[in-house]
Amino acid sequence: MTAERIDGKAFAAALRARVAERVPVFEAATGRVPGLAVVLVGEDAASQVYVRSKGKATREAGMVSFEHRLPDDTSQAELIALVEALGADDKVDGILVQLPLPPQIDEKAVIAAIDPAKDVDGFTLENAGRLAVGEAGLVPCTPLGCLMLLKDRLGDLAGLEAVVIGRSNIVGKPMAQLLLRESCTVTIAHSRTRDLPGVVRRADIVVAAVGRPEMVKGGWLKPGATVIDVGINRVEGRLVGDVDSASASAVAAAITPVPGGVGPMTIAILLRNTLVTAHARAGLEAPEGL
Ligand code: NAD
Repeated sequence: MTAERIDGKAFAAALRARVAERVPVFEAATGRVPGLAVVLVGEDAASQVYVRSKGKATREAGMVSFEHRLPDDTSQAELIALVEALGADDKVDGILVQLPLPPQIDEKAVIAAIDPAKDVDGFTLENAGRLAVGEAGLVPCTPLGCLMLLKDRLGDLAGLEAVVIGRSNIVGKPMAQLLLRESCTVTIAHSRTRDLPGVVRRADIVVAAVGRPEMVKGGWLKPGATVIDVGINRVEGRLVGDVDSASASAVAAAITPVPGGVGPMTIAILLRNTLVTAHARAGLEAPEGL
């Protein structure tokens, strides 16, 4: 069997087009377009690339991008003051602080300063709590993108065995919550899990968010599994995922490629979340079909 390739790039492009279509409708109702503020502290090369592509995608969707680049030696108080000012700014519907932050700044304190109504990354305790108790809120972009790809391919996920490898607050934990919300039987595996291949073999759905190049082998998978590879690892100048795609493709029914799978979904969901917060802040009904 050769696994079907789950084309996240195409899915993301279609989602971005749907978001862009709604922007003029929002503008007609409110007299302004949605705005996303992105804050970058320091010179981290990967973060600079991410921030640049987020700004470009925001403008392409017809929204306003407010980009704030602060020096590496910015203090925590200065950053929090900016985040609070963005919270008070009516033109800003979404606030994203690019992580990681320099060591003198406590990420948790900065996230706590983000207005939960503008928390398009879904990182605040308010939104994490809403996801945990099953209430509507803003969900982190990467796991929500993974869920959309899974539902698009598999339809109803109820009763399926899902194994999420990785327990970060950004990917693994919210992914597990989302799959639980869909009534999957969810296992979260992590660095201390015993017999990871044995755990993964149970799964109809595998989501790998580890950050270890090609760690998950085809021999670990249940035949016919659907595999979502979140990993982005640079190996000898090339991007590879957390799944060994060559061996996995011989066993899985479907797999996301790296690049071109989950990565493009993350930005598309960021735009989608910004459109959603803009509607909520304007007292408009949430846009459908997103
Ligand atoms: P992280 O480092 O915060 O978390 C990694 C997790 O993997 C930890 O919970 C750890 O317990 C687990 N882990 C580590 N070694 C393991 C092992 N040997 N066996 C089982 N579990 C192990 O990383 P993260 O922020 O969750 O990101 C994970 C990967 O996803 C990275 O490659 C990152 O670049 C990528 N990522 C991609 C996107 C995207 O848009 N595609 C977004 C975010 C992260």
